[in-house]
Amino acid sequence: MRILISGGGLAGLTLAYWLQKYGFTPVVIEQSDGLRHDGYGLDFFGSGYDVAEKMGLIEQLEGQQIKAQYVGYVNEKGKPIAKLEMDLMRRIMDGRYLPLMHWTLEEALYQTVADKVEIRFGRSLTAVSQTENSVIVTFDNGRSETFDLLIGADGIHSNTRRLVFGPEAEFAHYLGYYVACFPVADRYGVGEAWQNYTEPGRQVGAYCSNRDGELITLFMWEAPDEGRIPHAERLPRLRREFANMGWITPQLLADAPANNIYMDTVTQIKMPQWVNGRIALVGDAAGCMTLISGQGASMALGGAYLLAEALHQYDDYATAFRVYENEVRPEIETRQDKARDFAKAFVPGSELGLQVQKVMMKLLLRDAFKGVLRKQFGGASVLRRALKRLPASHDEVLGYVLNGKLREVDYHSLSLDVDDVLTDHDHVNLLLKMEALDGIDWPAMWDDVRFGLDYGRSVQKLAVVGDQRWSDWLAKAARPFYAQQSRHFPENEAEAAWAWLQN
Ligand SMILES: Cc1cc2nc3c(=O)[nH]c(=O)nc-3n(C[C@H](O)[C@H](O)[C@H](O)COP(=O)(O)OP(=O)(O)OC[C@H]3O[C@@H](n4cnc5c(N)ncnc54)[C@H](O)[C@@H]3O)c2cc1C
Repeated sequence: MRILISGGGLAGLTLAYWLQKYGFTPVVIEQSDGLRHDGYGLDFFGSGYDVAEKMGLIEQLEGQQIKAQYVGYVNEKGKPIAKLEMDLMRRIMDGRYLPLMHWTLEEALYQTVADKVEIRFGRSLTAVSQTENSVIVTFDNGRSETFDLLIGADGIHSNTRRLVFGPEAEFAHYLGYYVACFPVADRYGVGEAWQNYTEPGRQVGAYCSNRDGELITLFMWEAPDEGRIPHAERLPRLRREFANMGWITPQLLADAPANNIYMDTVTQIKMPQWVNGRIALVGDAAGCMTLISGQGASMALGGAYLLAEALHQYDDYATAFRVYENEVRPEIETRQDKARDFAKAFVPGSELGLQVQKVMMKLLLRDAFKGVLRKQFGGASVLRRALKRLPASHDEVLGYVLNGKLREVDYHSLSLDVDDVLTDHDHVNLLLKMEALDGIDWPAMWDDVRFGLDYGRSVQKLAVVGDQRWSDWLAKAARPFYAQQSRHFPENEAEAAWAWLQN
């Protein structure tokens, strides 16, 4: 099966790697002329870390980390206010955390596919159409070609999304900030640190990259949405927005390159669906969460991995796309909600807000608050879901392995799967294969009750398979709130359970 991937960024290259590994023939088109060596730093953990580990990349990435020893907040004179040691961050993430430059990760992913996958640089799509059996695309060199599937992995301003799903404005949700960054030589003594300084409505950061003596800046400011700012206007805009700002801001702006400034709105992408026939979206193209979530890269890798896995597990691409979307979309939406709520506090708009932020930072950035911070960063990996759909699911029968603590996203995915079944059937039958159920995360309690209220009458049969103490109990307790009939089957009678559900 030939699969065209538009976008050779984090999601696109990860997807290409796994598709090729599973025996598909991916072809990547990337609009830039080669690998880029500019960009910004990333916190990399959770799903992304898990995927990179499966690709054998961790050792290599560990050696290329950003050198910062801590993230600090300073006053206008550069005096420290609060400090988050990178070691604390590593402890929060149980050691599975890497601060990386975007280019480091992109290059590492590229090396995994460079000699195995056809990658066409300097190429973009101008038109897309599809038939029952194929996708026909036209490239910007005027040539047309036919593929079995097309995946849009072309980032927040996705071209595929525009050509197939509609204009960006339909899906864009502006969070109230602009962001800009550029590299400069460190002549300010920032050293091996990530320093930040905030005034009401605007924040400046500077941190060392993984290249000697290089700093990357990060400017964020509150502003109305004016859309894309042309390159020539970016430096004047920054100088205007950050006029009279304290700390080393005037020097950073004096040293800024005239033409190499990344600038964009902080905008989330929310779509009602990620799939249209033989075309699907992944990464920021499908559900950009913004830098405020700190997980876009991790989820780009996680989403790409799960998309490839679904295509590998299901013979029929339409089911695979549905499984992928039902698994990943709730995860993205939960993180988007968190990021949107956090956005208001990200760069406080008033002096009072700023004072509150300072106190909170002094309090929270301590070991004792590891649990709170872990929740805030929300790094649970999409690869370690408690509820994992079984490929043997078919028609009105849905089967899952249950392993771990059930979270809100597990219920959201389950509800989406059940909704899909109920569009074609008047009931659904469920099989739960118990591996190591660890209860329900308390915020998900309400989702558990709601599942019963919304779907209990539609679940005609529930089979609970497993020898765990929970299994027998669950089969009994499920009736009649979660299912009309339910039965327990020992682990060695799984086939009998499937057969019972099919009758
Ligand atoms: C300042 C900043 C800080 C961030 N910090 C973090 C962080 O700490 N942690 C984190 O996890 N995430 C962070 N993110 C988000 C993260 O960078 C993105 O979520 C992630 O890069 C998304 O991956 P992607 O592959 O979907 O898109 P990208 O990495 O943007 O890749 C898209 C690719 O598509 C290509 N492309 C675009 N248009 C076309 C076209 N027409 N044809 C062909 N190719 C095209 C692009 O050139 C690019 O190579 C940050 C983002 C920003 C802006």
